[in-house]
Amino acid sequence: MHLANKKVVVCGAGGFIGGHLTRSLIEQNVRSLRAVDIKPLAEWHQIHAGVENLVLDLQDRSACETVVAGAGLVYNFAADMGGMGFIENNKALCMLSVLINTHLLLASRDAGVERFFFASSACVYNAEKQTSADVTPLKEEDAYPAMPEDGYGWEKLFSERMCRHFQEDFGLECRIGRFHNVYGPHGTFDGGREKAPAAICRKVIQAKANARREIEIWGDGRQTRSFTYIDDCLTGIHLLMGSDVREPLNIGSSELVSINQLVDIVEGIAGVKLKRVYNLSAPKGVNGRNSDNTKIRSYFNWEPSTPLQTGVAKTYEWIESRMLAPVSR
Ligand code: NAD
Repeated sequence: MHLANKKVVVCGAGGFIGGHLTRSLIEQNVRSLRAVDIKPLAEWHQIHAGVENLVLDLQDRSACETVVAGAGLVYNFAADMGGMGFIENNKALCMLSVLINTHLLLASRDAGVERFFFASSACVYNAEKQTSADVTPLKEEDAYPAMPEDGYGWEKLFSERMCRHFQEDFGLECRIGRFHNVYGPHGTFDGGREKAPAAICRKVIQAKANARREIEIWGDGRQTRSFTYIDDCLTGIHLLMGSDVREPLNIGSSELVSINQLVDIVEGIAGVKLKRVYNLSAPKGVNGRNSDNTKIRSYFNWEPSTPLQTGVAKTYEWIESRMLAPVSR
């Protein structure tokens, strides 16, 4: 798909993935870019020159009409979300993101938008398929029968479904990526919304700086996950958005590790060995989850492949640089 002459709108552009996607669209010579987020500009992870940056609440329908005006493509990354600590304790707030997607879809339909991207999540998958750390990777069809993550996952599954019916009933072309634990530089690493890789990097850096040789781990550390480096996530988004694939697609690494193994990697990068204190009452999510990439391979002959070690080293380096110079992010 030729993007250069289209107006492209990135919703949630002040966030982690939206900020990176905006940069990569600039690199692809998209000349007319509109970036939108509810946060004040000073709190955006990345601000890019030459982009029309708008601060608006996309739960509001008239704001959605403003942002999609004249747009060819709309990417929706805007959601009230965070890591396990946030989504387990803020289910109503997570579900209210349905207003963002509903109003963006309505406004996009009415404005004649050509293509709409929805950022879904591995949290849509049926919880009963994720009870063991020794996982069978999740195939796209494992989202049904529906029993997703309470709050956040239900909102994502409902919004996926809405995209599907906007496509069928109104002809709005929608593309849906199910992201699996995306991580990298220029994301949240403190304050309560951070996810496991960033949180572990931060804790290790703090333990090293304080000469405290201890780290708190949520759960028993044996829960398993795969983590997707941001560059792979961007490649997956571009492939999917430029394709005719109308069904939801996993965009996730299949390199499975336990949280203990993730801590081993971060300790290795930092050159420390810490005493592990397991907090068994902290939110820890499902016992095991991995991405089955059969479908994305069959469509694009591609799947995320950045080794966890490589991606975490880049993420650690960035977080450390921010923590040592915490004036601005
Ligand atoms: P993020 O929190 O960094 O970015 C989301 C952005 O949306 C934030 O900047 C936030 O201010 C903005 N936002 C929230 N409410 C808004 C509103 N009412 N109006 C306008 N902007 C609003 O999160 P992220 O990691 O960049 O995730 C982007 C998308 O991908 C989200 O939809 C998320 O659910 C999905 N996702 C992310 C991951 C991941 O591991 N990062 C995994 C699965 C799905």
